[in-house]
Amino acid sequence: MRTLPAIVVIAALIAGAVFIADRPGAVSLTWEGWRVDTSIAVMVFGIALIAILAAALFHLVRKIIAGPGAFARARRERRRRRGYRALTQGMVAVAAGDAAEAKRCARQADLLLAEPPLTLLLSAQAAQLNGDQKAAQNYFAAMLERPETEFLGLRGLIMQALKQNDEAEALRLARRAKALHPKTPWVLASLFELQARTGKWGEAEATLKIAARRNALPEPESRRHRAVVLHEQSRVAEAEGRDRDAARLAAAANAMAPGFTPAALHHAGLLRASGHRRHARKVIEAAWRLAPHPELATAYGALFADERPMEQVKRYETLAAQNKDHLESHIAIATAALAARLWGEARRHLAACGGTEGAAATSPRVCRLMAELEEAEHNDLPAARMWLARAASGQATEPSYVCGACGGETASWSSLCPHCRSFDSIEWRLPGRAPATRLQAAAEMTPSLPVPGRVPDETRLAVENGGPGALA
Ligand SMILES: [Zn+2]
Repeated sequence: MRTLPAIVVIAALIAGAVFIADRPGAVSLTWEGWRVDTSIAVMVFGIALIAILAAALFHLVRKIIAGPGAFARARRERRRRRGYRALTQGMVAVAAGDAAEAKRCARQADLLLAEPPLTLLLSAQAAQLNGDQKAAQNYFAAMLERPETEFLGLRGLIMQALKQNDEAEALRLARRAKALHPKTPWVLASLFELQARTGKWGEAEATLKIAARRNALPEPESRRHRAVVLHEQSRVAEAEGRDRDAARLAAAANAMAPGFTPAALHHAGLLRASGHRRHARKVIEAAWRLAPHPELATAYGALFADERPMEQVKRYETLAAQNKDHLESHIAIATAALAARLWGEARRHLAACGGTEGAAATSPRVCRLMAELEEAEHNDLPAARMWLARAASGQATEPSYVCGACGGETASWSSLCPHCRSFDSIEWRLPGRAPATRLQAAAEMTPSLPVPGRVPDETRLAVENGGPGALA
C-alpha cells in the first residue's frame, strides 16, 4: 500500500509525457537579441529541472542560516541528558552506599544541570554519605531557600538534628514542616514523637488528635499513645500538687488503655493515697483481668498490708480469680501462701505453673519459690539448692521491660526509652530482637524527590540512626 502514491505519481508523469509527445508543438523565445527554438517537451522538462534546483537551493540556504542555533540546542540537550544520567547514577550510588561515586556524580550533575532543586538533594546525601555533616547541613539549608525544595530540606535538617541529639531544633523544624504540609503522616508522627520527647504533653495530645483524624497512626497505637500522654500529664499534675487534675487524668488514661499496667498502677496509687481503697482494689483487679503483672500484685498487697497473712491469701485469691490460669495468678497466691505458711496451698499453685521435678523451662521465679518452700516446709536443703540451680540455669527467662525500638532493657517502665529515647516503646515481654524505630519507619515510608526520568525507589532520605544503611 505504501508504494501506491509513488505508482500514481509515476503513472501521471508517464501519461503527461505521452500526452505531450502525442501533441507536438514548437516554442519560440526571444529575449535581448537571444532566440531559442525548442519543442514543448523540452520546455516542460527544463521548467521541472529549474523548479527542483530552486527547491534544493532554498533548503540549503535555510540549513546554513539555522545551523549555529541547532548546534547549540543539540549540545544543550546532550548536556542535559548527561546531567540526568549523572543524577540517576548518583542516586543509585547513594542507595548502594558508594560515597566516592555519589560525590563524583553529584558534582557532575551540578555542573551539567543548572537546576539546583534537583542536584541539591543528591549533593546533601553524598555529603552525608561521606561523613561531611557540615556540608550536608549547608545543602539542606540551601534547599530551604526555594519553595519547591523547602519541605525536603526541612526533612533533611530534622534528621540531622536528631542525629546530633538536638531535639529542640528538630522540634522547631518539624513545626515548620507541619505548617507547610499539615496532612503528611510522617510530619504528624515525627512532630508528635518530638513533642513527647521534649515533654510537651499538651501539644503532643493535640497533634495526636489530628494524627488520629488523618489516620496517620493505626487506631490501637493512637489509643495507647493517648493513654501514655494522659498518664504523663497526670504525673505532672501530681508533682505540681494538682491532686484533682492528677486523679481525673489518671482515670482517663486507665480508661483509654485498660491493659496498660503503669497507668493502672498510677491510678490505683492515687486512689489509695486519697483513701479510696475499694476503688483502688477494683482498678487493679480490672487490670489483672487483661494483663497480670508482678507490680500489680505488689500494689494489691500494699492495699492490705495491715491485714494478717491468712487474710492476705484470701485477698490474693480474689485477685487471681480475675485471670485464673495465668502464671502470675499462681505465683501471686503461692507467694502469699508461703508467707502464711500454707505449704500445701503454695505447692499446689507452684506445681500448676512448672514447679515439679520433670517440668521443662520453669520460670526462675517459680524455681526460687520452690526452693523457699522446700527449705521452709521440710528443711530440705539439697532440694532447695537444686531449685536454685534450676533458676540460674537460664533454660527459661523472665519477662522484663524491653524497648521495642532498640531492644534495650530497663528496670522500670518509662514513656521514653532511656537508651534510644523512643516514645512509648517500652513493653513488658521476654527480651528479644529489636525492630526499627518509628521515626526511622516514618522516614522510610516517604518517597524521594520526584526527578524527571527514572530514579530507583530505594533512593531515600537519610534516616535517624547511622550505620552503613543510613541513607538507604
Ligand atoms: Zn530504646
